[in-house]
Amino acid sequence: MRETRIHEKTFREMITEEVIAERIKQLALQINNDLSGKDVVFIGILNGAFLFAADLFRQIDFPARISFVKLASYKGTSSSGTIKELIGWNEDINNKTVVVIEDIVDTGNTLERIVDELVIRKAAEIKIAALLYKPDAYKYKETISLDYIGFEIPNDFVVGFGLDYDGLGRNLPSVYTLIQ
Ligand code: 5GP
Repeated sequence: MRETRIHEKTFREMITEEVIAERIKQLALQINNDLSGKDVVFIGILNGAFLFAADLFRQIDFPARISFVKLASYKGTSSSGTIKELIGWNEDINNKTVVVIEDIVDTGNTLERIVDELVIRKAAEIKIAALLYKPDAYKYKETISLDYIGFEIPNDFVVGFGLDYDGLGRNLPSVYTLIQ
């Protein structure tokens, strides 16, 4: 397996770009089956979800909208626990089906914040698509179900395919996990 270094840290390839591409294809198929015919808005969460959102949305085969919002909670390699400002809401989601596109769901705090906002804005139905999911860290199993999960991963820090370490690594085509 390949390794890569960012600053002083070493990361090892964990999910290859081929495997990611195949999984995204399957998720798109499921979404096409489930949501075709509905009034759907995809909401990508920046920055991390930009590649996943692009690859997923390209394979949606019914007319749908996409918009992006930004909100960051992470500094370095451990969650800061504080959720920052949500910016960029300009899509009318009133009475629509919303598919939230997340790069990774860790504690779920980010997701909870977004779902709250969608409820306030009166979305008819909320679906969650996450490329990566850390079940051991997720705090909202009873309240927010994840509809389209790419990969369940251990509670380790990962980079690549949109995810960064200190702003770097988003352009790595595979997902890499921190080894030291
Ligand atoms: P949560 O609010 O679920 O704890 O964290 C969600 C956000 O934290 C993600 O959208 C992502 O930006 C960041 N994050 C969580 N885990 C990781 C990780 O392993 N690597 C990177 N690069 N970011 C992460």
